[in-house]
Amino acid sequence: MERIRMATPLVEMDGDEMTRIIWKMIKDKLLLPFIDLKTEYYDLGLVHRNETGDKVTVESAEATKKYGVAVKCATITPNAARMTEYDLKGMWKSPNGTIRAILDVTVFRAPIIADGITPYIPTWTKPITIARHAYGDVYKNTELQVEQGSRAELKVTDKNGNETTELIYDFSDSAGIIQGLHNKDKSIEGFARSCFNYALDTRQDIWFASKDTISKKYDHRFKDIFAEVFEKDYKDRFAAIGIEYFYTLIDDAVARVIRSNGGYIWACKNYDGDVMSDMVATAYGSLAMMTSVLVSPDGIYEYEAAHGTVQRHYYRYLKGEKTSTNPVATIYAWTGALRKRGELDSLPELCAFADKLEKATLKTFSDGVMTGDLAAISTLENKQTVDTEMFLEEINARLKKIDINIFLTSQSNRIKEFYFFFESIPNSV
Ligand code: NAP
Ligand code: MG
Repeated sequence: MERIRMATPLVEMDGDEMTRIIWKMIKDKLLLPFIDLKTEYYDLGLVHRNETGDKVTVESAEATKKYGVAVKCATITPNAARMTEYDLKGMWKSPNGTIRAILDVTVFRAPIIADGITPYIPTWTKPITIARHAYGDVYKNTELQVEQGSRAELKVTDKNGNETTELIYDFSDSAGIIQGLHNKDKSIEGFARSCFNYALDTRQDIWFASKDTISKKYDHRFKDIFAEVFEKDYKDRFAAIGIEYFYTLIDDAVARVIRSNGGYIWACKNYDGDVMSDMVATAYGSLAMMTSVLVSPDGIYEYEAAHGTVQRHYYRYLKGEKTSTNPVATIYAWTGALRKRGELDSLPELCAFADKLEKATLKTFSDGVMTGDLAAISTLENKQTVDTEMFLEEINARLKKIDINIFLTSQSNRIKEFYFFFESIPNSV
């Protein structure tokens, strides 16, 4: 069988522990036999990050800027215990944090829906993707505890030295607390663009919600910027494929989300996104079935699993035991990246392969073959728990049987649409 050719390399960021083991297995069993895989490889495993003084992380982010698409394995964020375990020269920062800051991205978290895994909210039959604005607000705050008798004011000095002052509170009746928050138009606009691009990309409606009725300047600014960007650059394209942008009050959004069937993107301010993504992930049943996509306003994509390096399983693996670690979110990180690469390089076959691999993965479950974490929550009757390697073998066996042609036409059309929609958006791909 001839392997599918690639045109441009994917940026491959290898990682740590159990996910590093699974990374190689996925490549060997599910990718290399079918694709003439082209990657620019960066080893973000902690050993190599330490050897390079963490330079490799920065280099991998720069390469992602250059090529536009990356796939990342889970990595260790060092803490005191890791300093000893790996004899580290420094307590290197979270690679995800470093990469996110360099690429200025929004994180989209989407669950993988499978037969026999019922979400805690049974009406959620389609995925709810959470987009979290990862800049400012309470995460970059300034706070003070104040004594009784103090007067707190908000003061701004403009570039000409003019001052504007507003009273926050006169603490004559009690001691108390105050907090200063900020956000930037530029960051909010970037967030809006990433959200609209991702909505077009995945053909899903997008909702955005804030508390603009109470926060008439701060939250209202978010609402206005989203509306301006949408009106100017996205309205026609959304209409052309029949998707919607919809703004509502956060309270109303929460109520609608619970009643919904899923199938849309929910864009959240930083704090809302932090909290809601944990709620949504839990409701869908398993962290091991959650993917993360990082999207920049100018159309750079990085795909990863939302879970960590599964340390406990790795220690068992090191003792020679077989583990039943779930590789699905990592497989989907690869399919997401390959599909995007195929789209950018006009290679429908590569996109169709990504569809086929996802189909083979889901078919493996629905046939009752799964890893232990899923067997514990699956409602299927004839389920069989297998170890990771066997699970990948089973996916491989199904992959060989699925005809790629069933995905080719739709992928060719998608690529045509993609160029139609994205070529003329400023700051986009
Ligand atoms: P974790 O790796 O997500 O694992 C926590 C637990 O969740 C596991 O022990 C396992 O439970 C279950 N689990 C997670 N993924 C699974 C999978 N694919 N298959 C089966 N079970 C799975 O979190 P952690 O143990 O707190 O963190 C380990 C390391 O990962 C840390 O060094 C942290 O810095 C790093 N981390 C990296 C990222 C990233 O790179 N994106 C994200 C989060 C954490 P059982 O043991 O009960 O089976
Ligand atoms: Mg959280």
